[in-house]
Amino acid sequence: MIKAFENFEVWFVTGAQLLYGGDAVVAVDGHSNEMVAGMNASGKLPVKVVYKGTANSSKEVWDIMKAANNDAKCIGVITWMHTFSPAKMWIHGLQELNKPLMHLHTQFNEEIPWNEIDMDFMNLNQSAHGDREFGHITARLRRPRKVVVGHWKDEKTLEKVAIWQRVAAAWADSQDMLVIRFGDQMNNVAVTDGDKVEAEIRLGYHVDYCPVSELMTYFEQVADAEVDALVAEYFRLYDHAAELEDKTTEGYEKVWNAAKAELTIKACLEAKGAKAFTTNFDDLGHFDQIPGLASQRLMAEGYGFGGEGDWKTAAMVRTVWFMSQGMTKGCSFMEDYTLNFAGEESTILQSHMLEVSPLIAAQKPRLEVHFLGIGIRKTPTARLVFTSKTGSGVAATVVDMGNRMRLIVNDVECVEPKPLPKLPVASALWKPMPNFEVGAGAWILAGGTHHSCFSYDITAEYWEDFAEIANIEMVHINKDTTISEFKKELRMNEVYYMLNKALC
Ligand code: MN
Repeated sequence: MIKAFENFEVWFVTGAQLLYGGDAVVAVDGHSNEMVAGMNASGKLPVKVVYKGTANSSKEVWDIMKAANNDAKCIGVITWMHTFSPAKMWIHGLQELNKPLMHLHTQFNEEIPWNEIDMDFMNLNQSAHGDREFGHITARLRRPRKVVVGHWKDEKTLEKVAIWQRVAAAWADSQDMLVIRFGDQMNNVAVTDGDKVEAEIRLGYHVDYCPVSELMTYFEQVADAEVDALVAEYFRLYDHAAELEDKTTEGYEKVWNAAKAELTIKACLEAKGAKAFTTNFDDLGHFDQIPGLASQRLMAEGYGFGGEGDWKTAAMVRTVWFMSQGMTKGCSFMEDYTLNFAGEESTILQSHMLEVSPLIAAQKPRLEVHFLGIGIRKTPTARLVFTSKTGSGVAATVVDMGNRMRLIVNDVECVEPKPLPKLPVASALWKPMPNFEVGAGAWILAGGTHHSCFSYDITAEYWEDFAEIANIEMVHINKDTTISEFKKELRMNEVYYMLNKALC
């Protein structure tokens, strides 16, 4: 079990009815227990599944859903109809349920026992029609849900359940997520801003401002000995030039001050119970440099981060970090920096001034100090330098379209960069799918940010489940995308969200 998920449960509720007699329900109960135990024992599921019994009436469904809402450990409900569970009995319960829902279309028995099958067997293995009846009422209620189809022992089925579990866990994490902003949006930037009230209504993120003057009260409380210890840790963890350890140099002083900034920000975030934060390079208080090293290291610890006041990406970085607990390739805040035109092999250099998470590094990060001429402090600045792993990943962003939040997801392929001897920052080089021209074009048509939340570990299916739970728009730019079809999708979504006032 993944440690961050060990206090979570997903409830499994079996739909039944008493038409087939009490004995049938007892048998179904036995099947359900065996299925849930089997799924838990598979080792494929990151969150424990807890069987909550058969629901045989409207009252029983309602009671289970109310209990799910009120149980802090329960992050979602899986339903399965072993047989006909008349769906009118699910109406009130489904209206009540405010947690993520998965409908698992499966069956206890795998293959039909052709020679033995009789009516008793049929009465115990009727998901084929029972799950359609349930599907109707969820569709009729417009209830967001994930439908997973497959035998419960099948690895592919379990993988889809696992993805949904991770997303449901990240959803639970986002419902009490505090995002702290040190400074506002960088001057006049539109795309990284948006309606913070709507973000809390739709996504759970609570976005608050912390004046840098308040942050400085934490700065004043950081003890020198703590800073010394952290600097020693840096030197242990990262490759670095030997002279950086010379206490008489400016390089050492910059590293020391960067460590003090990290301790300052961390103390403030901990005191407030925040899970994500943003900075602004024009609003630095007593910091002698942009706290880029702090942002890099805090991201690696699980704090969401967004540059220049980008609270939406900060929150998403935390969300994707939480989703991918125990996975190994990493995630980061990222920014489209510079284009490399090379025909079909055209790519985008991804970086930031400094703030890329070392979780995605291909090699041991190197601690370096170099002059940085951006922002109010134009001064040598500490940072971790590395290039990212190669391979496929997913970039995502949320933009505020005025009447709704739009999640934009792009599959990307990270490729080997050439050396960047005069650009000592962390970076990645990727080709957006299906190619640079269509990938970047579609992202721009959708109004996507220059910032994104990037992960190697998750796929677009995670974001699809997230958008379903949040009930927000999602567009996915992938190997099959064409500009003309993508434009049609954007136009149709515009009408859909205009007509569905409840979603806007
Ligand atoms: Mn930026």
